Amino acid sequence: MSIPQTTDGTTQLEPLKITPDDPRYLAVIDKRFNKRFAASPDYIRLVSSTEQVMAAVEDAVREGLRLAVTSGGHCLEGFVSDPEVRVIIDVSPMKRIYHDVERSAVAVEAGATVGETFKALFDNWGVVLPLGEYPGIGMGGHVPGGAFGFLCRQLGLAVDYLYAVEVVTVGPDGRAIPVIATREISDPHRELWWAHTGGGAGNFGVVTCYWFRAPGAFGDDPAKLLPRAPESITTFKAEWEWRDIDAASFLQLLRNHGSWCERNSSADSSYASLWTLLEVHRRQFGKIIIRGVSTADADAGRQVDELLAALSEGLPAPGGRELARMSWLEFALDPFPDLFGMPPGGVSVKVKDALLKKRLNDRQVGVAYEHLTRSDLDVMGGMLGFASYGGWVNTVAADATASAQREAILDMACTTGWLDPREEAANLAWVRAFHADLFADSGGVPVPDEACDGAFINHPDTDLADPAFNTSGVPWHTLYYQAGYPRLQLVKARWDPRDVFRHALSIRAA
Ligand SMILES: Cc1cc2nc3c(=O)[nH]c(=O)nc-3n(C[C@H](O)[C@H](O)[C@H](O)COP(=O)(O)OP(=O)(O)OC[C@H]3O[C@@H](n4cnc5c(N)ncnc54)[C@H](O)[C@@H]3O)c2cc1C
Repeated sequence: MSIPQTTDGTTQLEPLKITPDDPRYLAVIDKRFNKRFAASPDYIRLVSSTEQVMAAVEDAVREGLRLAVTSGGHCLEGFVSDPEVRVIIDVSPMKRIYHDVERSAVAVEAGATVGETFKALFDNWGVVLPLGEYPGIGMGGHVPGGAFGFLCRQLGLAVDYLYAVEVVTVGPDGRAIPVIATREISDPHRELWWAHTGGGAGNFGVVTCYWFRAPGAFGDDPAKLLPRAPESITTFKAEWEWRDIDAASFLQLLRNHGSWCERNSSADSSYASLWTLLEVHRRQFGKIIIRGVSTADADAGRQVDELLAALSEGLPAPGGRELARMSWLEFALDPFPDLFGMPPGGVSVKVKDALLKKRLNDRQVGVAYEHLTRSDLDVMGGMLGFASYGGWVNTVAADATASAQREAILDMACTTGWLDPREEAANLAWVRAFHADLFADSGGVPVPDEACDGAFINHPDTDLADPAFNTSGVPWHTLYYQAGYPRLQLVKARWDPRDVFRHALSIRAA
């Protein structure tokens, strides 16, 4: 446990309490990425230590106030920014990243961001974790959702490296109890560790710290406890003009892309070192973009050329080809600025995700063409995205972690983003109709079957729990957790008997 120090070196046990009249209140409320939702808690607790988390949790429970935890503010749904939440506990002051000699692991406190973690791992030891793509994401909310990123095809998920987690839980009497749960078979708290390897954030308690160590790694040299960072990164981008694409060439492009992913997504593929994103923007945007990252160093240019040749078979070659080489850290701290850059004031977004074991079938590609070229709606931010997946992710057994989806080759998402609240209705209508039509054969949602691996809890979509959108008869938790849900329910009953930690898609106790 870390003991907080004040500037005069004494220990501070009381967490900072921030009320709406304090200028820091708005800073916490406003750090949310998705401006679609807004919170208005009675107060916010800024916590710097496990003891402060315990005090903050006990106060809220004693006062009977609904609480939520925040780290980086990158929740895609309103789990934190929920008007019913009366207390927000913000762990972002807890940012220490250090080598824990006793546990032979690298400790990362839950308030560190993905970017801060990448930087500390790289600068101190030249190592890396396969964390998510956006540096502003908080480790607190990111890791328990499984966490995939640019390096997933060669390194797997971040939770595949999770050795231990510290969680402040709440007992039946309302007392806060800090628990360290490890993946050691002999650990009586092992199930709590397991639940944090894909069970989703905000379910069991407040995470204060993670410890990471690669399976099979040992010793006291932190540079050997995690994978070595890539020698270099090569990014690429190329694009097709929508005006050159009709229904037939659209079908050809998506077949080419999907077949390439089907052929090249095993862990031993020479393309496991290549991660790609196909951004099929709506036609009104004008472009379809393929971009990606290779860690193949001197071989990266050849990899990219081969990919682009395969994708454009029977089509005009994409234009505007860009290739750039840089260090891993330079890339990781500012990946694809043209993709992730946000306008002042931020955006509202809706993401509807699906993990695919196979490429979209021709009917689904026809649906995509129809919705992406619809001109009766003005939805400039609408897009169908395909991030390549699989590779090393799929070498881990489905029940070894709570990240059950270990057969997918693509993470696909129908997304849209807007600036003006008046545009919300049209954007939501478009993205919901698109997703429902794509999965019309399975009740409007990505039911796990031979072509689909369900959905990813780090990209939560509350529509999956709404019978108006999910007519499959398959509950939302099967889409996210498959056979692991009953096990998560037991963990919930054991560690959060009062259901203190809950949101629209939280685990319900067994
Ligand atoms: C632009 C963008 C890019 C993304 N890219 C990826 C990606 O590449 N890969 C990927 O896997 N995911 C990605 N995500 C999803 C992201 O991992 C999740 O939204 C994650 O939950 C965000 O965590 P946070 O701490 O930033 O968010 P917050 O909004 O602070 O919290 C999100 C959830 O986690 C809970 N939580 C936060 N901190 C704690 C804690 N200390 N203890 C317990 N619960 C906590 C909250 O209560 C809430 O339920 C992306 C999201 C965005 C917006």
